[in-house]
Amino acid sequence: MSVSVVLFTSDLRLHDNPVLRAALDSADAVVPLFVRDPGVRAAAHHSANRTAFLADCLADLDARLRKAGGRLVVRSGEVAEQVAGVVTESGAEQVHVAAGVSGYAHRRERRLQRALAPSGCRLRVHDGSVTAVPPGAVRPAGGEHFAVFTPYFRRWSQEHLRVPLGAPRTVPVPGSIGSLDLPRRSDVPGVSPGVPEGGETAGRKRFAAWLRNGIDGYTDRHDDLAGDATSRLSPYLHFGAVSPVELVHRARAHGGPGAEGFVRQLCWRDFHHQVLAGRPAAAAHDYRDRHDTWRSEREAADDIAAWKAGRTGYPIVDAAMRQLLHEGWMHNRGRLLTASFLTKTLYVDWRVGARHFLDLLVDGDLANNQLNWQWVAGTGTDTRPNRVLNPVLQAKRFDPDGAYVRRWVPELAGLGAPAVHQPWRLGAADRARYDYPEPLVDLAEGLARFQRARGKG
Ligand code: FAD
Repeated sequence: MSVSVVLFTSDLRLHDNPVLRAALDSADAVVPLFVRDPGVRAAAHHSANRTAFLADCLADLDARLRKAGGRLVVRSGEVAEQVAGVVTESGAEQVHVAAGVSGYAHRRERRLQRALAPSGCRLRVHDGSVTAVPPGAVRPAGGEHFAVFTPYFRRWSQEHLRVPLGAPRTVPVPGSIGSLDLPRRSDVPGVSPGVPEGGETAGRKRFAAWLRNGIDGYTDRHDDLAGDATSRLSPYLHFGAVSPVELVHRARAHGGPGAEGFVRQLCWRDFHHQVLAGRPAAAAHDYRDRHDTWRSEREAADDIAAWKAGRTGYPIVDAAMRQLLHEGWMHNRGRLLTASFLTKTLYVDWRVGARHFLDLLVDGDLANNQLNWQWVAGTGTDTRPNRVLNPVLQAKRFDPDGAYVRRWVPELAGLGAPAVHQPWRLGAADRARYDYPEPLVDLAEGLARFQRARGKG
């Protein structure tokens, strides 16, 4: 009996999984393997919220495999060593894995090549599982990745996407291969209370509900902070519990301006992935050096602490930061304005903010997080690197009646708009009734500091 190993990484699903399909096509039986890597746990991109969500994803994957006659095999340790061990135990001739974009994923592939070489087992790395269009599939003339979104979107939209694959009916797994217990969400300490249920089943349900009731209003409502009218599919996409190829196909089949807008956002995801694949160092270093001399973490320690705690005195910033603490998720408009506030108004290094987001975000993703942070900080691919979002104007535009602020900043729940966005304008007696801080910084002073630093003032 021939055996292949499927190493699950960022593709924790049975539907439209080209890696699993290739493994099933190449052998009589497969070992569906997930390795818990202490290297990832130790790295900065480990978080309780994602660990909890991952536990759900693995439990759901195991349940789905069992329905197909198989099961998930879980091991713990350095990935290449663990895979090589399973190859020896099962006599597997091939290992299948999805291509990743990060430096970590590239190192993992190299280690796997080395670890498998002595056994003659072949490593097969598959594109087209983690993104809709694989990084490198579309390239600008004379370059290896696109640095500007609009021309990328034009080319991306013309790409022919493969037809989504159904879930396999049967997944034969050799009985002799031992597994550790599945990790359990209830064993993970420090999880934010609002982290949603993970897994392919929950992700597919959410997408179906989104198609029925949500996507049509996306164009008009995606920036409405209180309306919360985006798909919230990001953590399912991050863990591959849903397939980006399938999402694009089904959204296009649904049609309409909302679906087009949604597909465009999925293209942003691919865009950042191809930037990181082309420039893995952009996870930690400026994509475009603007010669910033950021305030040191020590000098800005109080400002950073207030920003993290949602106590800056700017209600819209604080509401979004508290949503992050509570849900491990933040609305995209909130991410934009809190990141602009930290990097531009407070002039703190984007890496400080990106690290905090990665600590908490259930969808925390190296490509999307680091490159969006760089985009906002002006060190990335934004073609207007020095734009600064004014939190008061943002609040008036995207939370006009103040419902989002009142939801997340209960101290101000008694205030209507516009006072809820500018409580410092209340008289001293009124201000004393609200246990809420004064603004951390004057916006005009913050702007002037940033413009001086960038040589624009
Ligand atoms: P929807 O609006 O429903 O969009 C559908 C999908 O498109 C999302 O699930 C996501 O996969 C993708 N998408 C949407 N906007 C973007 C974008 N700007 N860049 C890349 N992909 C996008 N997204 C993450 O998935 N992980 C992160 O760690 C992350 N960090 C961010 C940090 C900052 C500072 C900013 C400004 C944005 C960040 N984003 C990140 C992008 C975006 O905010 C989230 O993807 C989005 O808010 C998720 O909500 P949703 O699923 O309801 O999105």
